[in-house]
Formats: sequence, structure tokens, C-alpha cells
Amino acid sequence: MRRKLAAGNWKMNGTRASLGEARAIADAHPDLALDLLLCPPATLLSAAHDLLADTSVLLGAQDCHCENSGAHTGDLSAPMLADVGARAVIVGHSERRENHEETSELVRAKARAAHDAGLMAVICLGESLAQREAANTLDIIAGQLSTSVPDTATGENTVIAYEPIWAIGTGLTASTAQIGEVHDFIRARLERRFGSGVGLSIRLLYGGSVKPANAAEIFAVPNVDGALVGGASLTQADFSPIVQALEASS
Ligand code: PEP
Repeated sequence: MRRKLAAGNWKMNGTRASLGEARAIADAHPDLALDLLLCPPATLLSAAHDLLADTSVLLGAQDCHCENSGAHTGDLSAPMLADVGARAVIVGHSERRENHEETSELVRAKARAAHDAGLMAVICLGESLAQREAANTLDIIAGQLSTSVPDTATGENTVIAYEPIWAIGTGLTASTAQIGEVHDFIRARLERRFGSGVGLSIRLLYGGSVKPANAAEIFAVPNVDGALVGGASLTQADFSPIVQALEASS
């Protein structure tokens, strides 16, 4: 029912020379029955849009401002990102929440701005190691989910990415039981808030050290509709096996 989604977050990596990898990723998957989203740095969006125009790869940005324009030096608005070819934007990544002190209220405003600009918002949630060890994971996720997701969310304009902070870029991956528990919880909360129509249509991604070696077992977990991949999305050699594992999953 939900179309699977493989999303790559290049973070602050890549110059124009890296666009060859984006093209290689697109060329390796010409006829996909799933969505493939690449989120390069904003500096590459326009060139990537031109380079990938004849492919089915979707482009996304990694953040946006919550306002459409104004005196916000260095920031980029959702309409600006749409203007250079972005179809989606990541909001609330834990690196933004931690390094830029972004609150869930701000994340909701950014997601709302994305919706208003016609972009799909990939809204990230996740607990820290201390929160998990204190058995607070589901409370943290519940709070982030209810506050970060705007009322305008639909299955078309919103994706939720569960990314335990302790698993991002660390090589540590949540166990399939841990992933399953949180994804089932998010699904139930979405259904309760939005009803089963919208609640069942919003895609849920797992993120946190997804690699070719662990992708298949993660994609076998119920309510995992794909992955948000950081380090392993930077090269075709690493990302393609993950995309293939997602395509092969039932
Ligand atoms: C991420 O940045 O969203 C992420 C999951 O990174 P990594 O795959 O490198 O852990």
C-alpha cells in the first residue's frame, strides 16, 4: 500500500565533483518500483536537478527556514528549494536539533513551510542514548511526534524518519526489535491522530548506520517503509545494495 522510499542524506559532504556518484546511483536504478530520494548539500541542488532531469531520482534539501523570505542571512526557504528542483526537505534531523538547538515547535513550522511550498517533509525523530537507557524512548518519540508533525500532514507530503541519535554515524544499529517497537508505536500514534486513512499512508523510515550488510533485516521489520541513509548514500557502491535490498523486501 505504501510505496517504499530509499533516501540519502549527504549532509555537509560533496562538491560538484561528487555529482558523478549521484548520476551513477540514478543509472544503476533506471526502473524502480520505489522512490529514490537524494538530499545533497543545497549548493548542489541546481546542478543535480539538471544532471538527473531524465532520471526518476527525486531531489531533496537537508533543511529549510520556517518563513518564505526575509532578513535571515544564510538561510534558505522552502520556496527557494522548490525553485531549484527540490521535491522534499529533511527537517528536524538530530544534528539540526542538537547543533542548532532546534525545538520540535520549530521543526513543525519548517514542515508546515515545506507543505505550503509543495515539498514533502521528511521529519526526523529519535532518542539519545541516555534517554534510551532511562527507558524514556517512547515518551520522547511521542512528544517529538505530536509537536513536530503539523496538522497539514498527509501520506503524500510527509515522511517520518525514526533515527535513534546513538545509531547515527556511529556504526551502531538499533536491533530489529527496537526498530519494530518504535515504528509500531509511531504508526499507532499517527492512526490515532489522523485516522487510519492518513495514519496508514505516511511512510516510516529507519535511519542510523544502515549499510548493505544490515539493510535486508531492517527492511523485513513491519512498518519500516524504507531508510534514511547518511554515510552509505555517498557512493553508488554502498547505496545501490541498500536500494536493491529495499526493492527485494516484501
Ligand atoms: C543520517 O544522517 O540521517 C544517518 C542516518 O546517518 P548514518 O546512516 O551515517 O548513520
